[in-house]
Amino acid sequence: MNIIYTREKTRVMRVGNVSLGGDSPVSIQTMWKRALPDDRELLLKELRRFAVLGCDIIRFAVPNEENAKLLAEIGPISPLPIVADIHFDYRLALIVLDGVQKVRINPGNIGAEWKVKEVLAKASDKGIPIRVGINGGSLPRKLRDLPQVEGMIAAAENEIELLEALGFKDAVFSLKSSSAGNTIEVNRRFASRWDYPLHLGVTEAGPMIPGIVKNTRALLQLLGEGIGSTIRVSLSAPEEDEVVTGREILREAGLRPGGVDIVSCPRCGRSEFPVHELVGQIQEELYAIRKPLTVAVMGCVVNGPEEARHADIGITGSGNEAIIFRHGELKRKIPMDQALEALREEIREAIKE
Ligand code: SF4
Repeated sequence: MNIIYTREKTRVMRVGNVSLGGDSPVSIQTMWKRALPDDRELLLKELRRFAVLGCDIIRFAVPNEENAKLLAEIGPISPLPIVADIHFDYRLALIVLDGVQKVRINPGNIGAEWKVKEVLAKASDKGIPIRVGINGGSLPRKLRDLPQVEGMIAAAENEIELLEALGFKDAVFSLKSSSAGNTIEVNRRFASRWDYPLHLGVTEAGPMIPGIVKNTRALLQLLGEGIGSTIRVSLSAPEEDEVVTGREILREAGLRPGGVDIVSCPRCGRSEFPVHELVGQIQEELYAIRKPLTVAVMGCVVNGPEEARHADIGITGSGNEAIIFRHGELKRKIPMDQALEALREEIREAIKE
């Protein structure tokens, strides 16, 4: 299949302060998974935390008018551009367009043409793009008997005809299946025909481990072929896990350099150091660092430093003593109960260097 519209050849649009499509960096998205809290400060604090972890855009479901109004208020002060996810109700779209930076809505689901026109006219006036989401599991009834990929392409074609007939072209498309293979195929097919930027992801991918495997397979393949302008790893897990997985996929694809590479040993019978606990305690802090650094947490004093000699900073220990090493060489010894704080100090020092 001839892929014509690799990411740099796609249209470019703005989602708040994030540029999407063309040669813009591939952005990471997640979706808010709880009811919207009444406490706005709490909500903004959570969004700031996701931003620090590497999230670029956040989506919220909009089930009712109250939520639509709240998002329209939060949108202008949010640390992350907000995508409002609307199903069917054009009135909710009109409300959120007063404050959010993108709307996910399928024109084919809105109903009468005048309603579609109203939504698109307001989005155009405000320079707000929309995302059209084609999901393999919820295709329009008349397309459900087709093989899934065929049905998804036909659904995308119908949406594009509707949008273009109304002169609207600021659209991002997602074509998601719960099958990694179908997600790859359908996005290749789309990129061979249309220049709209693609939002990639395997939908309903499952809990952490299978979800990460399916998304990694599909996204690394597509990103490596030059397809995809933004990604969301959907997992039955908290938002931060989706963001961190997205980051690691982009790093593996060579699309988001920098940040900390955590090297940690799996532990074995020689281990005398609480590798898993220490990694669990410090990983979120490490993910917030932008400087390229390799930090190793190893299970034993004898093999650990040697196995992690390429790491900028490493830690291991035995008995009541922890040791910190730099590039495999001993830097300092500390009591075990001060290991975490000592590691933080070394990392702060390495960031300044
Ligand atoms: S670093 Fe030590 S504890 Fe960890 S896997 Fe290697 S030999 Fe085992």
